[in-house]
Amino acid sequence: MNIVILLGAPGSGKGTVAGFLAAGDGSLKHVSSGDLLRGAVAQGTDAGREAKAYMESGRLVPDALIATMIKDVVAATTGDETMLLDGFPRNLAQAKILDGMGAPLKKAVLIDVPDSIIQDRIAGRRTCPQCKAGYHVKNLPPKREGVCDKCGAQLVVRKDDNPETVADRLKIYHAETEPLIEYYRSRGLLATVDGTTGVENVAVAFKSAIA
Ligand code: AMP
Repeated sequence: MNIVILLGAPGSGKGTVAGFLAAGDGSLKHVSSGDLLRGAVAQGTDAGREAKAYMESGRLVPDALIATMIKDVVAATTGDETMLLDGFPRNLAQAKILDGMGAPLKKAVLIDVPDSIIQDRIAGRRTCPQCKAGYHVKNLPPKREGVCDKCGAQLVVRKDDNPETVADRLKIYHAETEPLIEYYRSRGLLATVDGTTGVENVAVAFKSAIA
């Protein structure tokens, strides 16, 4: 098993691209820290109860809480799989925790999208609460409005996708997550893809970056 980290602002398309690639390739496993946390909140576990208020206000949950979840997934992943790790690490402390897990890092891929595009992307984002598929009202609409193509559930707007919370999440991204770009660049692990070219083109560029 090895790990590819997806770096990029909220709304840069990390989940969309990872989901797209993993759907067509059994050797790729998409692991989203946000989906793990939303699952814990929905199930009402202790971790979910602790995480809920942080998530709704767009702040990062405590490092130890999310790191424990990621550790469990890493421990359960074996064989030839490549884990597409989406949303973790989010700061330097988490990057060091990940280093300490001993799982080999193959690459960190930055999906580069300017802030000016992010607000519009998140405003149109719709998510399937059941199978986690992501859509956008203009850029990636479902076949039937408001209904998931894959599982038929009603699509929802994430609570933390309102404009004020998005602005806070972007600030946190620039302050806490962006330093990871240099962290992985200095170790020769960074690749950057242009995230504004459409899902399929981004996926092709991403795949060649990790080949
Ligand atoms: P995402 O789906 O990646 O946008 O994450 C949604 C929310 O989950 C974030 O705004 C944070 O509150 C929380 N979250 C996800 N991943 C992490 C992480 N690695 N560290 C701390 N909080 C996280």
